[in-house]
Amino acid sequence: MAEDAPIGPPKDAQRIVMKFGGTSMAGTERIRRVANIVHAQAAPNADGVASEVAVVVSAMAGETDRLVNFCREANALYDPAEYDVVVASGEQVTSGLLAMTLQSLGCKARSWLGWQLPVKTIEAHSKARIETIDAPDMVASMESGEIAVVPGFQGVSEDVRITTLGRGGSDTSAVAVAAAVKADRCDIYTDVDGVYTTDPRIVAKARKLKAVTYEEMLELASVGAKVLQTRSVGLAMKEGVRIQVLSSFVGDDAVSADELPGTLIVSDEEMDELVERGDMERQLVTGIAHDKNEAKIILTRVPDKPGAVADIFTPLAEASINVDMIIQNVGRDKGETDVTFTVPQADLARAQALLEDRMEAIGFNRIITDSHIAKISVVGVGMKSHAGVASTMFRALSDRGINIQAISTSEIKVSVLIDEDETELAVRILHTAYGLDATD
Ligand code: ADP
Ligand code: ASP
Ligand code: MG
Repeated sequence: MAEDAPIGPPKDAQRIVMKFGGTSMAGTERIRRVANIVHAQAAPNADGVASEVAVVVSAMAGETDRLVNFCREANALYDPAEYDVVVASGEQVTSGLLAMTLQSLGCKARSWLGWQLPVKTIEAHSKARIETIDAPDMVASMESGEIAVVPGFQGVSEDVRITTLGRGGSDTSAVAVAAAVKADRCDIYTDVDGVYTTDPRIVAKARKLKAVTYEEMLELASVGAKVLQTRSVGLAMKEGVRIQVLSSFVGDDAVSADELPGTLIVSDEEMDELVERGDMERQLVTGIAHDKNEAKIILTRVPDKPGAVADIFTPLAEASINVDMIIQNVGRDKGETDVTFTVPQADLARAQALLEDRMEAIGFNRIITDSHIAKISVVGVGMKSHAGVASTMFRALSDRGINIQAISTSEIKVSVLIDEDETELAVRILHTAYGLDATD
């Protein structure tokens, strides 16, 4: 700790997990800024309450992509277990660097790697799920005033091999650590100062939200708002972890994180209270997200008979390929129909090969693929009780000549598939159409 901080375990300490993403950790200069933020959090706040702190870190921005490319170059059909050994290394580097930078500020700090805690995951390499985190030693060290630095994204499988959690997985590591140490709050520091009505890098008039419900954030993340990994929101909802999203790019005079300057992810009940107090307005649509990572497949002249659709989707399901939007077009003559659906772009080649192998068995005529598409979604719990959200969307897009290729809905979401070139325009149009634009 710094010289002016109290010695020994702080009284009435709160326990905070802080997570810093790749942009925040990109280079030693930025890591020093992060160390200053961590140091400030660990010291007593305005109310004299100090924090026991665990920090979860990402690899430096661009590093995981670089490591993934090395794997591809080494072997196009790389072994996922060895892929995890390679890509987990980015977070090992930043956790060590942050621990030593904190030490240079006079803080007690040490790193706790995934296998040391351990963060136990299922064996599914490159997309593992955390099962348990055993943290008694780390908690004891935090209680003694030592800052714990945990590399995000990584864990260890039953057979003691390194696993990783899927891209963006450090958010999930942070929430899991927060649940394991029973943290009062999990602060996700990133390069924007909260969750906005849409990606603020696309729409300058996007508005920062004071709070979003778990349900809405889960839906927004799952349709492309990458500010939080989808799984991290699901886990926080299940474990009751209190999340705040806030920026690490702030000056020394910034408001303390304890004052909740970012966006809080809250339960429905908390949201009701915020609305009642006049702190939040209830909107029909909370946010708009886009996703350019899907691809469209059209199978033409599929026999219009029972079992045909099952023959298409069963092999895809068996290969763990997630199918999202599906349209079975109106039957053509001679008992045939076209079937259109989307899969993640990363799985397109595999899906195409699987279907081509079964062309005769399924009985389709041609397979047409298109990666040049984007999914645009509007999300809001208000939709549960109000009609007309979807029609506003269709009308606003058609007024600007944007063609809708497919539609899907859930209780609190409407998604449409459009040409990728029209993504930014569509998001802006819809942001305005639902009255979400900031006024100043
Ligand atoms: P990190 O490296 O900190 O994990 P990410 O790049 O994964 O950060 O997520 C932060 C980015 O999410 C922002 O830079 C922003 O462009 C994007 N984003 C997308 N949708 C939203 C949204 N609704 N609100 C805020 N940010 C969003
Ligand atoms: N470094 C990993 C990634 O880029 C995990 C993360 O940053 O959340 O996907
Ligand atoms: Mg992220």
